[in-house]
Amino acid sequence: MKYISTRGQAPALSFEDAMLSGLATDGGLYVPETWPHMSTDEIAALAGLSYEEAAYRVIKPFVADTFADDELRGILARAYGTFRHPARVPLVQTGPNEFVAELHHGPTLAFKDVAMQLIGQMFEAVLKRRGERVTIVGATSGDTGSAAIEAFKGLGAVDVVILYPHGRVSEVQRRQMTTPSEANVHAVAMDGDFDDCQARLKDMFNDADFRGEVKLAGVNSINWARVMAQVVYYFTTAVSLGAPHRKISFTVPTGNFGDIFAGYVAKRMGLPIERLVIATNQNDILHRTLQSGAHQKEGVTPSISPSMDIQVSSNFERLLFDLYDREGEAVSQLMGELSAGGFSLSQGALGRMRAEFDSGACSESETSETIKMMVETTGEVLCPHSAVAVKVARDQGETAVPMVALATAHAAKFPDAVAAACGLRPDLPPHMANLFARPERVTRCTNDLGALKALIKEKIAR
Ligand SMILES: *Cc1c(COP(=O)(O)O)cnc(C)c1O
Repeated sequence: MKYISTRGQAPALSFEDAMLSGLATDGGLYVPETWPHMSTDEIAALAGLSYEEAAYRVIKPFVADTFADDELRGILARAYGTFRHPARVPLVQTGPNEFVAELHHGPTLAFKDVAMQLIGQMFEAVLKRRGERVTIVGATSGDTGSAAIEAFKGLGAVDVVILYPHGRVSEVQRRQMTTPSEANVHAVAMDGDFDDCQARLKDMFNDADFRGEVKLAGVNSINWARVMAQVVYYFTTAVSLGAPHRKISFTVPTGNFGDIFAGYVAKRMGLPIERLVIATNQNDILHRTLQSGAHQKEGVTPSISPSMDIQVSSNFERLLFDLYDREGEAVSQLMGELSAGGFSLSQGALGRMRAEFDSGACSESETSETIKMMVETTGEVLCPHSAVAVKVARDQGETAVPMVALATAHAAKFPDAVAAACGLRPDLPPHMANLFARPERVTRCTNDLGALKALIKEKIAR
């Protein structure tokens, strides 16, 4: 399996190289040259398997011969052995034909773990084989940083450096990043806001000398391996509800479009998905796009579902590539227009998008009301992101097709919003109960590229 760039100007790469490089050299995103197909019999045979075995069968065609069979099984066992539920992604019934898939049983209580835990093990295996060492540097507004730290801590072939804006992440989020004691973990509290952290990160990646010197690598949401990991739970969830003999619909709380794009990939592979519903909060660029065809930036309004507070969705480019018949030139042009403010989908592209997706937006008060209603009627305590999905799922109306809303974080990660909505303050699960007693380890840094580069070199020279 080869990977090609959505902008058509970068060389095709193997899975291994696409994973290690993240972004293509032409600024595009890597996608498989063709979508692998699973037959009805192959999908039916997933029923009753462990999550790890189902994952093995779903991702095998994507990774091809990057890993030997036993090696891949070992990677999956280590990746998902950290999850606290034996089903890994359990399903809860919340209505006659409504289900919630809980993606938050990983070490940091958010669905980012599903992909990060896998990518951590895959990086380690590939780098060890090559005899290489890399420095993973990421910027975070909260959730992604701790997921990356949990995935890479203690591994031999990587250092992981996470920049977060000093004083601007929640206490739970900060402690999740500053309390791991492994020597290869480096939390950096930078002066400024999240945009400043991202800008300095970009500066470092654009500094060819520094990039080579510390062997800089990234694992942000556009990394193909992260999207791939997320395809698996669409299969396991649908099969446990009767697929491939029955169609299933999904509603996905959407930010960068990685999660729902994985659902689209599952459908391309042959999983009988009826509808894929994009659920947004008040930052609703994707909902507006589906309604009008205009993909227009409008700034970000902070919400109680912060992991979906985005101006543009980076993985949307992967869908555009398919909507425009995989013509890199067309995608390049649209992305150029987007930098200047926005673009309009062609009638053909909009029609193709509407054939696959529906969408809905959820206001702040609707999010809170949904948390309250779900606790009262089902006992399921949702985080605000998951509540957005349930609200938009219900707005689609009842059909004979089961609807699965994806629950992307544990309620205890957003205790203030949940308590304000339903009066219940969710407890951290037992493995994190002593989070507030653990010693913290963090380095402060000014918002200055030179200082940051010196700090990173010093940290990884240990
Ligand atoms: C990242 C995240 C999302 C959005 O997922 P995308 O793949 O970026 O669309 C939703 N909910 C939570 C809790 C997240 O952490």
